[in-house]
Amino acid sequence: MEKDLTKLVIAIDGPAGSGKSTVGRIIAEKLGLTYIDTGAMYRAVTLLKIRNNISLEKNPDKLIELTNSMNLELLPAESINGSSDKFQKVILNGIEVSKEIRSKEVSQSVSEVSAIPEVRTKLVSLQQKMGEAGGVIMDGRDIGTTVFPKANLKIFLVASSEERAKRRLKQEAQIQSNAININEEDLKSVQKEIERRDEIDRNRKVSPLRQAEDAILIQTDKLSIDEVVQEIESLSKKTLTKI
Ligand code: C5P
Repeated sequence: MEKDLTKLVIAIDGPAGSGKSTVGRIIAEKLGLTYIDTGAMYRAVTLLKIRNNISLEKNPDKLIELTNSMNLELLPAESINGSSDKFQKVILNGIEVSKEIRSKEVSQSVSEVSAIPEVRTKLVSLQQKMGEAGGVIMDGRDIGTTVFPKANLKIFLVASSEERAKRRLKQEAQIQSNAININEEDLKSVQKEIERRDEIDRNRKVSPLRQAEDAILIQTDKLSIDEVVQEIESLSKKTLTKI
């Protein structure tokens, strides 16, 4: 039978700022796959929490209810405010929130929201529906372990927290249309925020961030985006010979 790249399911997991979204989107474009940024989905639920003033201690059920009844659409990635990088276009209950979900406020609360088991159940089920026909690259924290444990190719991207903080600051500056001007204080604060988020993501009870046993680890500190893309592209082509 003819083997077709466009039927593959590729899982890219890793901590915040490891480059998953950027390389995932580029590879999807090159191979003709649909790119799905699952972090954007957890960010959308976090926006629901913030906009509805929900306290997770006092009223988690309210957020679970809103999550179960929300209408969430993911559309192809676009540039925000002329940024050179592109971001998943996200429509929440009929309104575009692609830029809002990238705010500091959302980044600060997203790990607490994504640790709620009922929120994960709902989003994992949406993700499985989106990918069931194949032809997807999905990036997140638990794609290779929980969402698609039988993915054709699993990649786990890592980089030092300092390098990841630099990348996040550059991305944020692009989204907010600010000049890229990284000072030591901002760098330390974003690095701390990323480390705090990783800690919560790694230690939550339900599908924590971890490398699947059969995932291929790529350390990206010293690699350019192009180099990571090339590596994953060649792994994808090799994968085809094995299925
Ligand atoms: O990828 P990004 O940094 O935008 O993800 C935001 C947050 O969403 C993560 O820190 C994590 O708490 C949560 N997330 C998750 N599972 C995924 C994707 C993201 O828990 N599959």
